[in-house]
Amino acid sequence: MIDGTMNAEKMGISNRKTVFQLIRNVPDISRKELSESTGLDPSTISRIVSSFRKQGYVQETGLNRSTSPGRSSVRLSVIKEAAISYLISLGVEKTILGLGFLDHSVQRIEEFATPRGFDLFLKTLADKISKHFREFPTKNRTIAMSFSLPGIIDRKNRYIYNLPHLGWTGIQLREAVHRVLGETRLEVLAANEAQLSLMAERYLNDTLTPYKHGFYLFLSQGIGGAILSEGDLYLGRSFSAGEAGHMRIDKNGALCQCGGRGCLETLAAIEPVVRDYERKGTALYGANSLEKFRSLISRYRQGDPLAIEGLSAMQDNLVLGITNIANLLNPEFLMLGGMGYDLPEEWTSILEGRVKKEALTSAGKGLKILRATMDIYDSTLLGSDLLAMDYFTEKNIR
Ligand SMILES: [Zn+2]
Repeated sequence: MIDGTMNAEKMGISNRKTVFQLIRNVPDISRKELSESTGLDPSTISRIVSSFRKQGYVQETGLNRSTSPGRSSVRLSVIKEAAISYLISLGVEKTILGLGFLDHSVQRIEEFATPRGFDLFLKTLADKISKHFREFPTKNRTIAMSFSLPGIIDRKNRYIYNLPHLGWTGIQLREAVHRVLGETRLEVLAANEAQLSLMAERYLNDTLTPYKHGFYLFLSQGIGGAILSEGDLYLGRSFSAGEAGHMRIDKNGALCQCGGRGCLETLAAIEPVVRDYERKGTALYGANSLEKFRSLISRYRQGDPLAIEGLSAMQDNLVLGITNIANLLNPEFLMLGGMGYDLPEEWTSILEGRVKKEALTSAGKGLKILRATMDIYDSTLLGSDLLAMDYFTEKNIR
């Protein structure tokens, strides 16, 4: 990006963005720290910060007194309500509607069972958002509706290629949403749930800071995935890179939602594991398959032989899938996310040992298999807030 055509004005734009991103990402940062991290001189930092304060995006949060007198420094942070977005974490069975803020805090509004058809879903959502928006005192600070979706999305054009478990294909999401919520004048943003969850973990989970190459395996009704390459999301030509759930591991296996046979998700996703348990044993407690999976895990902890058998079969298939991912991408870490957050710790370390043994030496050695630190809803909600506030930054910080 930096080439001979870069002029002072353009430098100014990117400096402002860099400083703003730092204030967004490092709460309570000081001007001195901003200057040290960016290499910009203190007077430039002061000028940029003062313009953000005038715009109402950034505030001083008080003094952080250091031990030596006269060295206290004023801390800076973004103003939470300077930008707000509706967040829609659309799950195959349950949808959560929330609000996300510039400081990346998230507030849940309500949850509802996901209607099977897109039109009914949109109508349900529109009713809820219209009602909320009408009475929302800070509606003028609200910028977007940001969707986390279980499938393949062209995030640039807000186009849904395919949400296989819902059977929704070929939807111009922005146009569809604007037909029913046009009066709100909110931008529509959307991305895949695994990609958003990876961004959320990168934002909040310090253990990921040193890593540039990784894979986030999103376990839910199906299996999704997201690739971290050179510190950035790798999306592929049409945004579907990382769809690990559809790697074929049994050519004679069960038919998958994608039309193929024997995909990893037909064997190791939450839905088949829960279904298999209930076929052999008793019904699991829970209103949907994710809740039932949690109850399967507690039965595993209590020593229920069928639950142990079910999770062990799931592990056999995940070992195959993850070994393939490790050999193909040679990542530093693979994170079990989505419902992977709920998996037992010792089960995960056994899985790690098995993958390390089966993968190529170069791929297995040093590979870390981690569990997500945020559950399936916290990560998708935070991820959609990050998407919204990146959009806000892109649009407003020039
Ligand atoms: Zn498939």
